[in-house]
Amino acid sequence: LTNGGQCPPYRRLPKRIAILGSTGSIGTSTLDVVRHLGTDYAVTVLSAHTQLDLLATQVAEFRPSVVVVTDEAADEADIRRAIGPGPAILRGAAGMVAAVQRDDVELVVAAVVGAAGLPAVLAAVEAGKTLALANKESLVVAGSILVPLARKNNVQILPVDSEHSAVFQAMAAGRLSEVRRVILTASGGPFRKTPLEQMRKATLADALNHPTWRMGSKITIDSATMFNKALEIIEACWLFDLPPDKVAVVVHPESVVHSMVEFVDGSVIAQLSPPDMKTPIQYALTYPERKDGCGKRLDLSRSFALHFEPPDAQRFPALAMAYQTAERSGDAGAVLNAANETAVAAFMAGRIAFGEISDVVQRTITGHSLTPGKELDDLLEADRKARVAASALIERRGASA
Ligand code: NDP
Ligand code: MG
Repeated sequence: LTNGGQCPPYRRLPKRIAILGSTGSIGTSTLDVVRHLGTDYAVTVLSAHTQLDLLATQVAEFRPSVVVVTDEAADEADIRRAIGPGPAILRGAAGMVAAVQRDDVELVVAAVVGAAGLPAVLAAVEAGKTLALANKESLVVAGSILVPLARKNNVQILPVDSEHSAVFQAMAAGRLSEVRRVILTASGGPFRKTPLEQMRKATLADALNHPTWRMGSKITIDSATMFNKALEIIEACWLFDLPPDKVAVVVHPESVVHSMVEFVDGSVIAQLSPPDMKTPIQYALTYPERKDGCGKRLDLSRSFALHFEPPDAQRFPALAMAYQTAERSGDAGAVLNAANETAVAAFMAGRIAFGEISDVVQRTITGHSLTPGKELDDLLEADRKARVAASALIERRGASA
């Protein structure tokens, strides 16, 4: 010791994190949280798909060692010009995989949208990195691989999805064997009360006009169809080791109660906070500790009411598809997810009506012969075939329209 025999003051090393999908809604909120938490966190990897300018701004502020640009169309020289000389550049899905395996990454925030996030999520768990998971699609597609792998490697999957963060927190009030059911809340989206015929013909702008949350466009459309809740039912089964009949959904338009756990004695434990993803993101980053939050806080100085109602099964056929998918297991989740991603992209491109999203997914599921295969290649093949089948349905519909 050089300072007269005194121990140096204790300083915690920063937790080093990789943010996959840093330019998205969850990615930018994660960086807001990291900024708020200060020197306890260091960003070593940022990954973007197309938004180079935003990535460059993030690089200038957070100084990562590595950036990943996944869009193969982006020119390497343009990327270097945008981000400057500092960080190494990795490319494509393989670049995300290599980035999460690095020794200077301890925690991976998976905030890519869609099944495109799966390879890096698997690689993170394989490499033993703590996983803060927003990319629910990877659990829907490959929960049968991801969850056992996490168990084997002693990796903690920390849910970022607000409902699952709420359940995760409420679960601490009892034992898994004492859980009667998990109750996921759903805002009901913009079409909760819209006449059904009008809802089927809703425009993109209508569907993107979510009443309580500001999110990326794919999940916003999913919230309007309730495929988001469908994915979340399957996500909950995997994350909390529950059979589908123990996962219920209730519509709660204010999005303040983020979900609940009902225990066998009749007690229901809920987690409440205003709709702001910074709260569950921060919990995943600081877990098992809690730190002063930067998300919105409940204002109890004014009166407010909370409402709950059962979901309308006719309006939201996605929910029944989710239970059917969760029961069937095998490659059913991969098929549901791929069909939905394809249908949402077609709706956003103006190729199908809003009401046809559920039709395309249902018909793709019906046309698929379930295989029990659990190998990754089987699931990726099911994903590929479902995209082809859903695209053909969309094409045929275009021809007959
Ligand atoms: P966004 O569309 O806002 O962001 C998606 C991010 O992924 C962007 O950084 C985008 O890059 C990148 N990306 C897009 N396509 C690819 C690809 N093929 N390969 C690699 N990266 C890609 O989505 P959200 O932030 O809303 O959602 C991200 C995930 O989090 C989803 O799984 C969603 O379900 C989940 N989630 C989101 C919530 C929210 O409030 N937004 C709440 C709960 C869960 P770029 O922008 O540079 O093109
Ligand atoms: Mg959610």
